[in-house]
Amino acid sequence: MSDRVIAALRKEARWLSKRADAKPDWMVRETYYNPRIENAYQCPSCFIRFDRRSELDSFPTGTRDDGLECAVCGADFIIAAP
Ligand SMILES: [Zn+2]
Repeated sequence: MSDRVIAALRKEARWLSKRADAKPDWMVRETYYNPRIENAYQCPSCFIRFDRRSELDSFPTGTRDDGLECAVCGADFIIAAP
């Protein structure tokens, strides 16, 4: 996990910023969203929507896919295994 996770989190951030209910500042934040700071993955939902940095924790998916969840906003992300 890493490049694949970063790509998936970026994609999520892009998707959020293009939603019909997205605010103009969401699109601005999408341009400087950093999916990983040091070794911690950052929640795209918290950053894009609330300008908040929240670290994601991994959780077991029961499959080869990786799971990441945010304890702050409750978002979870499944990153498909290659
Ligand atoms: Zn979050």
